[in-house]
Amino acid sequence: MPTTLENWNPGKAENRHPEMTYEEKEKLFLEVKEDPRYEDFLYGCYECGICVSSCPSARFYDYSPRVIAQAMAREDVERIYDIISEDIWNCAQCFSCVRCPRGNNPGGLVTLLREVAVRNGLQETRDVLQGYSRVIYKVMLKGNQVSPDMLQPDFFPDWGPWVAQFSANMPVWRKAIPVDTLRGVTDAAWRTERKTLLELYTIWFETGNMDIIKEIDEGLYDLLAEVMQEELEDQ
Ligand code: SF4
Ligand code: SF4
Repeated sequence: MPTTLENWNPGKAENRHPEMTYEEKEKLFLEVKEDPRYEDFLYGCYECGICVSSCPSARFYDYSPRVIAQAMAREDVERIYDIISEDIWNCAQCFSCVRCPRGNNPGGLVTLLREVAVRNGLQETRDVLQGYSRVIYKVMLKGNQVSPDMLQPDFFPDWGPWVAQFSANMPVWRKAIPVDTLRGVTDAAWRTERKTLLELYTIWFETGNMDIIKEIDEGLYDLLAEVMQEELEDQ
């Protein structure tokens, strides 16, 4: 929507994403607002900043849970689109911000915004999640989180020279851990029973998670689906 003398509102954000129409942005906001959890996550905002003072991401990034609660409370569609296209990926989902005296849950609002961003396959979301594809692959296929063999210089460049040392000496490092069953194992953070894995694969398919992965990253979907379907057919 172009800014005119009639609709100019200094309290609302400017259009920083003209590639998307106001109506398209508003549709995303309404999708968040229609979520049954929304009413429990937002009651208004005192702008007191208590959530910011407890937020680890606000300490290290240009990020503020207060701005998110405020934008949602003001129904500032342009600002909400700025947030959905970037800020939401800076949240650690730790929920320290639920100490909000107004009863808000800014981290929960981020969860809703992320779900809408993923469901709508937003390009910014695809770009952000591409960097996590190896983590998603590992979590969904192995029932594990980040495993030792993922500590590679190209994946964790911010670790500097240490990560190259870790990856070069991984079997030696791994031998040093005190759990007998995992000595020498570098592709798993822990062992997951086959029965559990097959249950997880079934859950990923039945709950529509695999459809979401397909929407966001088709290559990753093909890799996961091939292995999962083969395993499920063999059981
Ligand atoms: S969301 Fe809650 S804690 Fe954060 S600024 Fe608003 S009222 Fe304060
Ligand atoms: S859930 Fe997100 S917004 Fe809330 S405190 Fe944690 S990092 Fe900050």
